[in-house]
Amino acid sequence: MPRLPFSPLFILSAALLSAVPCGAQAKIGTAPRPAAPTSLPLLVGAALGGLALGGALGFALKKPAAPKTSGETDPLFDEAPIPLALVDANEKIGRANAAFSRFVGIPDATGQVFSQWLHPDDLARVRALFSDVFSGASAQSSGESRFFRADGTLLHATLSIKKQGQKREPDTVLLGLQEVTARVEAQNELSGAREAISALYEVIAGDKSRDLDAKIKSLLAMGCGRFELPVGVLGRFAGDEFETLFVQSVDRRIRPALTFSRADTDSSEARLLGLSQLPTRANWRDFPVVAVNAGHAYLGAPVAVDGELFGMLSFSGLEARPKLFGDESAALLQLMAQWVGAEIEREEARDTLERQQLALVAANEKLEQLATHDPLTGAKNRRAFNDKLAEEWSRAVRYGTPLSLVLMDVDKFKSYNDTFGHPAGDEVLKKVALTLMAAVRTTDFFARYGGEEFVLLLPSTDAEGAMILADRLRQKIEGASWKERGVTASMGVASLTGDIKNAAALTQAADDALYQSKKNGRNRVTHVRDVPPDVV
Ligand code: GH3
Ligand code: MG
Ligand code: MG
Repeated sequence: MPRLPFSPLFILSAALLSAVPCGAQAKIGTAPRPAAPTSLPLLVGAALGGLALGGALGFALKKPAAPKTSGETDPLFDEAPIPLALVDANEKIGRANAAFSRFVGIPDATGQVFSQWLHPDDLARVRALFSDVFSGASAQSSGESRFFRADGTLLHATLSIKKQGQKREPDTVLLGLQEVTARVEAQNELSGAREAISALYEVIAGDKSRDLDAKIKSLLAMGCGRFELPVGVLGRFAGDEFETLFVQSVDRRIRPALTFSRADTDSSEARLLGLSQLPTRANWRDFPVVAVNAGHAYLGAPVAVDGELFGMLSFSGLEARPKLFGDESAALLQLMAQWVGAEIEREEARDTLERQQLALVAANEKLEQLATHDPLTGAKNRRAFNDKLAEEWSRAVRYGTPLSLVLMDVDKFKSYNDTFGHPAGDEVLKKVALTLMAAVRTTDFFARYGGEEFVLLLPSTDAEGAMILADRLRQKIEGASWKERGVTASMGVASLTGDIKNAAALTQAADDALYQSKKNGRNRVTHVRDVPPDVV
């Protein structure tokens, strides 16, 4: 596209031009035109003085006083390097110079309606600039607008509109344009880069509650928008293969969790993933950004985790982009890839820490289990019972609350073992334990006391309560269905009284009661208070 920067040289030549009298005149166009719109300006230059960027521009095109006819030419106007046009109140161009016609992209813009090339969103604003001058409110006005050339190219230009003739409300104005497309695009690029950085920051820091997966997905969507490419991929190198982890893709040609061979260079997937351009573990540091924009578009940056090549963050499309990737795009992509790498590192470190913590907790639990439980039955062991007894003893003594203890022993178990074997005996012990554990309250403490003996500690339970519970348990064992032969247990109960001076004495009292149960025929419950003194 033609670009006419206002270089000092141009300003100088324009100033020189202003001193040259109007030259030869040749016909332009064949059809006669009404006089008014084709009248050339007496003075053009000042109109362009207000251009936003080229403020220094000030040149004058001097014209003979006589109005020109439609067929006349004026080289100062016609050959001026800046687009100039005479426009009437109906937006019709009475005369356009060659630069103007080139600007809008047709052989001759004369006779055309000016507003046809204006961007629709700028129409109202530009019309207001024109009406300022046509209404006589100002002698000139200026502003900026977007234009669509005949070939559809979008251009940016500043407009300067200047009243022509002596009338307060002129019939014609002189329109001068200065193309500023490059400047506007550069500004857009810059503000786009700023927006992208703040959008990236939003993704990275915005919502603390979002997890990394969600953040990476947002990042891919943001990148697709920013780079104007349909596919965004975070992939990882897995040996000789490349595996997609996260994908943003409209047509789902690429999906997450797919594996591709690096050797694949022909398929459309290969192009979208840039397979033939992927760096290796050896050379990735030399390729901070990989960009391709021929046939297809690919912009990728290596993602490093712990200083090693992890994968690629890439954006791509099956068609080349209209514009090459700029430095801002490359810088932004690198920033994104660095962030992704750092986040994966952090996540992995967090995972490792969590795994270690979990393993530690599990190991502690295991140790605790081993230390406090009986491996055969799964019940608490004697050590745990002793701790619990000491604790409950002090509590009961301190608060004066009841405390009872039931000691139980499987009847004739030696003969069971002898008859059915030790393993069968083990099964009985397991079942006794399960039966009892299922029957006791959660506040009661049940443990395997040793061999075929079990113990139950009953906080806040007096002798009566303990006897009822113990007998219920005895019945549970007797009533359970047993494989080889019936199983019963004898029980001895003791409760906290003034006679019992310590925790060991409480256990001993229960043992005395148990002995009495055995003596009295087994499968029964005896409270120590009912044991005759001669037995104890
Ligand atoms: P009583 O009715 O008087 O209690 O008779 P008993 O045979 O049950 O008494 P004794 O104390 O003579 O026998 C206890 C038996 O329990 C002896 C031992 O081999 C057995 N025993 C202890 N621990 C285990 C165990 O873990 N598994 C098996 N299978 N048997 C065990
Ligand atoms: Mg025993
Ligand atoms: Mg026994």
